[in-house]
Amino acid sequence: MSPRSLFWIPVILRLLLVAMTMGLGWYWWGSTAGFVIGFIAVLGLALIQLQYLYQLSLWLENPDQIKLVDGFGAWTDIFARLYKLRREDQKNRNDLAEWLSRFRQAMSLLPDGVVIMDDVLFLEWCNPLAEKHLRLNLDRDKGMRVTNLIRSPEFIDYIILGKYEKPLSMTLGERKLIIHLIPFEQSRQILVTHDVTDTDRLDQTRRDFIANASHELRTPLTVINGFLEIAAMQPDLDLETRKQHLDLMVDQGKRMQNLVEDMLSLTRLEAIDHPVRPEPVKVAMLLQQIQRDSIALSGGRHEISLSMDGPDLLGSSDELHSAFANLVTNAVRYTPNGGKIDIIWEKHAEGPRFIVRDDGIGIRPEHITRLTERFYRVDKGRSRETQGTGLGLAIVKHVLIRHEAQLTIESEVGKGSSFIVQFPVTAVLAVNH
Ligand code: ADP
Repeated sequence: MSPRSLFWIPVILRLLLVAMTMGLGWYWWGSTAGFVIGFIAVLGLALIQLQYLYQLSLWLENPDQIKLVDGFGAWTDIFARLYKLRREDQKNRNDLAEWLSRFRQAMSLLPDGVVIMDDVLFLEWCNPLAEKHLRLNLDRDKGMRVTNLIRSPEFIDYIILGKYEKPLSMTLGERKLIIHLIPFEQSRQILVTHDVTDTDRLDQTRRDFIANASHELRTPLTVINGFLEIAAMQPDLDLETRKQHLDLMVDQGKRMQNLVEDMLSLTRLEAIDHPVRPEPVKVAMLLQQIQRDSIALSGGRHEISLSMDGPDLLGSSDELHSAFANLVTNAVRYTPNGGKIDIIWEKHAEGPRFIVRDDGIGIRPEHITRLTERFYRVDKGRSRETQGTGLGLAIVKHVLIRHEAQLTIESEVGKGSSFIVQFPVTAVLAVNH
């Protein structure tokens, strides 16, 4: 049966009942009594309807607190339908709240900041990353104009010009951001922020590296070219001068080779995006080899000792060899003749330690924190004289980061330096390995 007939049938039945009571009253007690009885019946019906209307108005005011009675006649159906609508509405609201919470969760996992604004740029919502990038606070700033919150002239110009098809690149505090404004729907706009601080810094480092490397390579190349030109222009140069020129060219060639090898090592280390694949490292063998090489490099100018009291390691033999050898080679190069160099491998509560101690020229404190930067040298002349490339400690730093080890440098000018490498306990090779 249709809802319309469901409504009308009880109404008609009730009116028929009233008419019947009226008719019977008339028949038995006369017309006046019939009218009175009819009037009372209509009044009763009207009072019942008013009572339900009152119940309905109370319920509408506070549908969560008050329960509707079951009703009578057509009211039963009206109340039942109202209840159904209310349940559906509640379910829709719950679904919407759940969807909204999932949407917010997804937005907070995004690698970019997202700000939702209305058509006149009043802040409606933003994710935590946008709060961080743009220094906003949703609770505090909601409902405020975004141009009053992000007080950057570049951003204001971007908004005024309205050329949103192109992203804006701007600096906010320490951060470099790429900002994109996307209008959506009729009256909403989304602002997407992407933090490029690290990539930008990396690009700058790469640019500096290329500029420095080209500069470093140009110097020996110029020297070699100069001597070659002399040789071409003066074919009958005496043998002694020619030998001197050749020796200098060999020296410069060696310098270029060292530089290219160090640059390749560093680039290779940087290109590896997986952690070290741990293999057993026989530290005693590795350090004995390094000691032998350093004695050869020193040519008897230094006393070089090796003290071995630490365990074997888990790590990359090649990388550790390169890092340890760099530190020992530096000690030889920056320690005047007759100096003493100690190579120490020892146990320690925090994990094994590798120490290279020399009584060489030492380093002033202001240089110490910068030594692992590429091409950073305290004394360029001295570094070149000893075939230095300025990349040794940068290589050491990379290898140690990959092995979760820490480098500490202690030094005093004129007294000497100690380069201490602290490995974590987890780097120790288990005895039954
Ligand atoms: P370089 O090839 O110039 O030695 P490194 O990166 O190995 O480059 O070292 C950077 C700088 O650190 C060196 O130029 C030198 O000034 C300083 N340095 C490194 N080791 C020592 C040391 N044992 N004693 C004094 N200075 C050192």
